[in-house]
Amino acid sequence: MEKPAIEGGKPAREQKIFYGHQYIDEDDIQAVVEVLRSDYLTCGPKITELEEKLCSLTGAKYAVACSNGTAALHIAALSAGVGEGDEVITTPITFAASANCVLYCGARPVFVDIDPETYNIDPKKVEAAITPRTKAVVAVDYTGQSADLAPLLQICKEHHLTLIEDGAHVIGTKYKGQMNGSIADMTMFSFHPVKTVTGGEGGVILTNDEGYYKKLLLYRSHGITRDEDQMQHEPDGAWYYEQVDLGYNYRMTDMQAALIISQLDKLPMFAARRKEIVARYNEAFAGMPALSIQREIPESDTTRHLYILRIVPEKLRIDRRQFFDALAAENVCCNVHYIPVYYFPYYEKLGYCRGLCPNAEKLYEEMITLPLYYAMSDGDVESVIEAVTKIVTFYRKD
Ligand SMILES: *Cc1c(COP(=O)(O)O)cnc(C)c1O
Repeated sequence: MEKPAIEGGKPAREQKIFYGHQYIDEDDIQAVVEVLRSDYLTCGPKITELEEKLCSLTGAKYAVACSNGTAALHIAALSAGVGEGDEVITTPITFAASANCVLYCGARPVFVDIDPETYNIDPKKVEAAITPRTKAVVAVDYTGQSADLAPLLQICKEHHLTLIEDGAHVIGTKYKGQMNGSIADMTMFSFHPVKTVTGGEGGVILTNDEGYYKKLLLYRSHGITRDEDQMQHEPDGAWYYEQVDLGYNYRMTDMQAALIISQLDKLPMFAARRKEIVARYNEAFAGMPALSIQREIPESDTTRHLYILRIVPEKLRIDRRQFFDALAAENVCCNVHYIPVYYFPYYEKLGYCRGLCPNAEKLYEEMITLPLYYAMSDGDVESVIEAVTKIVTFYRKD
């Protein structure tokens, strides 16, 4: 039997591969350069063009481009009216920003457990966690698979809650035949470089609701308006504007917008390649009892952002940490998405304890994020599979 590199064998690949990497081509570079030669570096025509493009991609009525996804979540929570004393339900298996946006508003995140097989928030548990203080639900489309939006929307409607979709992973996915982005009350996309489409940094909130849209615009830009309908005093003149609320500077630059617009033209290509790689991984790992594959719900036609390798600890002589280190020795440099948010010291200080969400905690003990990105070659994919297979074969318990 071939020895894993960590046991002194030859690594599955010579060059290190990482879990994600952006893909930038000459068109992307030219798009940014054109902005640099133009009149507007921010608040210019590229912002409107991007917002329109995201609306036509998703079918949403309104889009508000922001400096990053976290800022977008913050203004979504504010626009939903989340404030002091409120509770907002979310999942612990996410990046901290999904819960931090609630804290920014002075409210309390309430962590609800995931489905043990799809890894997305469990709608039944959401319903059970609602109290008179609950104001909103932040549902994450973990790995790019859509959260089960139909029951979540139903629950939110019944209890008069706002459904905010943290769609940082979801661009390109369809839920029941409809593009994610036009389904929840508000949906956020992130354009961080590891996400499917990038702007360096960047985010957007999509909504069909004009009321939310107007608030989002205000919060994005200092709470300032030039719309006379929103003003409280008579305009002094053509220069006049008013600050009517406390907002932020969460604007995106035109360089970012131009890059995202150019990247969006490649989304079908990015999505197709990601689907190919996921199918190849699934095919390779399906027959291995020491591994477990994320369950796909039929409602979600998924463009995957992350590929989760989950070990079955009873079938292996090593744990997740040792598996992770063994992969690194093969030059397959993985990651773990995510550490349950309430494990962090900052959240511990706020009174959250371990044991809150057993399914999430078990998943955390057993998962590794494998490399998945557009520019991976077939050879890269096969070497990752070879590394995993070697480790499973060597350490499996029969
Ligand atoms: C990336 C990410 C965010 C934050 O997006 P930024 O653009 O980096 O601010 C929020 N939630 C999830 C699930 C993410 O993956």
